[in-house]
This record gives sequence, C-alpha cells and structure tokens, in this order.
Amino acid sequence: VDGPVRQRSLWQHNLALVLRRTSATTPISRAEIAAATGLTRATVSSLVEDLLRAGLVAEVDPAPRARPGRGVGRPATGLVLSATGPAGLGLEINVDFLAAAVVDLTGAVRHHVVHRVDQRDRAPERVLADVARLAAEAVGGVDLTVAAARLALPGLVNGDGLVRVAPNLGWRDVEVRGPLTTARHWPDLPVSIDNEANLGALGELAAAPALTNFLYISGEIGIGAGVVLDGTLLRGAHGWSGEIGHVTVSPDGPVCRCGARGCLERYAGQEAIMRAAGIRCGPALSADVAVGRIAELAEARDPAVLDALRGAGTALGIAAAGVVNVLDVDTVVLGGSFAALAGWLDSHVERELRDRVLTARWSPVEVRASALGSAATVIGAAGAVVRGIRTAPAAWAGTGR
Ligand SMILES: [Zn+2]
Repeated sequence: VDGPVRQRSLWQHNLALVLRRTSATTPISRAEIAAATGLTRATVSSLVEDLLRAGLVAEVDPAPRARPGRGVGRPATGLVLSATGPAGLGLEINVDFLAAAVVDLTGAVRHHVVHRVDQRDRAPERVLADVARLAAEAVGGVDLTVAAARLALPGLVNGDGLVRVAPNLGWRDVEVRGPLTTARHWPDLPVSIDNEANLGALGELAAAPALTNFLYISGEIGIGAGVVLDGTLLRGAHGWSGEIGHVTVSPDGPVCRCGARGCLERYAGQEAIMRAAGIRCGPALSADVAVGRIAELAEARDPAVLDALRGAGTALGIAAAGVVNVLDVDTVVLGGSFAALAGWLDSHVERELRDRVLTARWSPVEVRASALGSAATVIGAAGAVVRGIRTAPAAWAGTGR
C-alpha cells in the first residue's frame, strides 16, 4: 500500500490473510496461523472470531496428526473453510445451451444443470428470462446462502453489463443486467457479467492450480480464449482479450461472421468441423449431439471426419503458436467442446506448435484437454464469486469495526 494503512484496512488485510492461510493448510489451528503469518495469537483469535461469526470458517475436531516433540497435550481445534458459508452462482448463456452452477466456499460444485436449447433466433429478453429461472432453481436447490452471481456470455462485455457484441448469438449492444435482474424469477442477487472463455480459464485455474501460465481455448460454435499468466487472468485494456477465434489463419480464407477473412473460427469452429466432415448441421442437430457424432465417427476412423479434425487442429496450432511466441505460456488447454475432441486434435496442435514456436525445441509446449470439459465456464463463473469472497472477506464479514 502506497500510503498510511488505516485501522479498518488493516483489519481487512489481516482478515484476508487469516482466511488465505485457512484455505492453504486445512485444518489449521489458531497457533499455526499465528506462526505462519507473524500476527499475535490474540489478533488471530479475534480475527478467527470474526470469520466464525460470518460463517466463513468452521471449527473441526483436531485431526490426529503426528507432532514430533510436542508431547501429549490437548491438540488444538482445527479451522477449515466452511462448506456452509457463502456460495457463488455461475450462469452461462451460450449459442446452443444455458447452464447454471453453484460452487460452495470450499470450491465444491453443489449444483450443475445444462439446458440445451438453441439461443440464436431468440430475443435477448426471452433468453434472460430463462436464465433468471435457472438462477432461481439453482438458489432454491441448494441449502446455502448464495452471495452473488456471475454470468458468462460468448462475446465482448463491458463492466456495466452491456454486451457490445456476441457475434454467434447475433447480439449487438444488448443491455443485460437490467432485464436479467428485473425478470420475474430473478433471485435478488448482485450479478456481474464476463466473457465465457475468461471464466473458463478461471475454472481451469481453480481445477488445476499447478497450471499457472496457459492459453485456454474454448471451442463452441465460436472460439474464445483466456490467457493466464503467473496465475492471473490477462484481461487487456477493456477486458476484451482472448478473441482468438478471429485471429487470421489464412488471409485469403473464407469470410467470417465478423467481416474479416480466414479467421480461426472458419476452420476450427464446431460448424466448420461439421461442414468439413460432411455432417449436416443446423438447428435440428444440437452441438452436444454433433460433437458426440464427430467423436463417434472419429473413433470409427471415418476418413472425412479425421481430415476435418486434422484441418481444425492445424488451424488451432497455427493460431496458438502466435500466442505462445508472444506471451511465453507453456501449456495450451483445449476446453469447451474441444475437450471431448482433444484426442484427435492434440497431435495436430502439437505439430504446429513444434514447428512454429521459437523456443519449442528446448521447452516443448504441453497440449492437454480441459479438466472440467464443457462445464469449465459455468463452474469458473461460480468459482469467481467464491474467489472474490475469499480474497476480500471483509465485504462479506460486514462492517466489523
Ligand atoms: Zn472473424
């Protein structure tokens, strides 16, 4: 902090510090927190009281742990993050499905539903009314206090809840927060809105914490990406980073929905893969069925499908190599529907990375499927709410002092 620390911000800081310790080592005693943080035991006890009162931590019976040299005194009470503490609600609007998830304070998924309906020809108010209903069902379906909601959308979103453009939904300058929070079923929660690939990357970060520098590519009808550097999501000047679907793969290629030519999406988007494979697509064939069908045909070694996947994987590798050369991430995660197809895409992506990334010879880029698959975004959205509470618990713990 550049300037004097006031009493209240000191309390906020220390409260977060104690909570962070509790989530890192679990269970942990008050004495262990004091030793690890350098706070006095009296301060730790007082902060723990605040956290207990706010329902953010819970006491558990001491775990029978070997403590060499400690003798046989009464073991200390352990503290853990409270599984009944404030939870996060994640919501997702995608081209052909809606989803909702609740993640509790410990990071466990307590509710997850996917509602498969093509959203393309629907008015935004209708879509948002359905999202409000999913939100109400999710909140009613768990025995937890839901603190806030985060909504994921496949488009460029600004901080005020305005969707500038979601090309595959056909949305342009759509105000989302107002219609959502005034919808009949909306469960009276604060909501923030974010890009789906960004939240997918955060979901991946929470599910695989050892991964700290990666490019997460989410393949649905469109293709988005989230870049995580040193464990932090890179957002860019407007929060609009990650539009890898519109990176040029071939300057003379086919015209994209965005108006440019030869974008990645035209080679590796779900519809492009299906078209290349000769599978008829359209509203009659929902994307999960389509992806299942592609995987089935690839399993049977259908030559047209294997060709289509080679084309998609090659295009993905070309686009990803550009990102890796600029940003020095060491892993490419294939998410969204790419996760289910990763077994057929990865060798092509790897080949392009090997040929195009300058440093690949001595530091090969790892390509892997997302740990959460197509659920990464909605779970990442719910997890982002929880992460917010965990990093700034004072807002939840009330005015305190
Ligand atoms: Zn484009």
